[in-house]
Amino acid sequence: MATHLFLDFDGTISIGDIGDKLFQTFGSFEPVHSQLIAGEFSVAEYYRRSVALLPEGCTPATLEAFANEQSLDPGFVPLVTWSKRSGIDVTIVSDGFDVYIEPLLRASGQRENVDVACNQLTWNGIAFAPSFPGASESCACFCASCKRNAVITRLGDNDIAIYVGDGSSDSCAVEFADVVFAKGTLAAECTRKGTPHHPYRTLSEVMIILQEKVGKGALRVRRQAVLARKRAFEAE
Ligand SMILES: [Mg+2]
Ligand SMILES: [Zn+2]
Repeated sequence: MATHLFLDFDGTISIGDIGDKLFQTFGSFEPVHSQLIAGEFSVAEYYRRSVALLPEGCTPATLEAFANEQSLDPGFVPLVTWSKRSGIDVTIVSDGFDVYIEPLLRASGQRENVDVACNQLTWNGIAFAPSFPGASESCACFCASCKRNAVITRLGDNDIAIYVGDGSSDSCAVEFADVVFAKGTLAAECTRKGTPHHPYRTLSEVMIILQEKVGKGALRVRRQAVLARKRAFEAE
């Protein structure tokens, strides 16, 4: 039996949504973002359009410099360090891009301690192209990188999944997690759907609650999540 900690990136590990900020800074955030919110197209299509709108002169170096100006929740490094010490695997599940996630993880000193499932932005010397290695046809979510699949494919029988997130791209995954930490629109959605969750504001709070649960031996599987995982596997 292993324990896995899944962390959303934008707005959960990072302060604010860096993906949104990237396209606000370099691309043409509108009208494509409003069209996405209105359901006119999927996140993958939103990304294809937004990436096509990145201006000439925007290179990997530009985006790395932009990434290095962003900040992370100060509780991130202690949470990963404690998880590693406690034998808990950490996976970052993001519907954002490697171009800002990777530099920030390297700068935090934690790159070697986490696994990452996210979208990719590749540079061909002239322009960027997005790719979506975590895309799912079997999940009903609108995401480019399906977090549900990132979670369930990493879990063995009797493993425990802890999930921490803040937004709508996390909602397909939390149904399959045993312990859920939610803030922002994810918390509202969990409340609406009756998904048990711990409200939180910072990753330090998450760590305190987890340390208490581990100390008491109170980390355990959630029946509804186990059943949901079983059904998802059978449907694949
Ligand atoms: Mg988020
Ligand atoms: Zn999904």
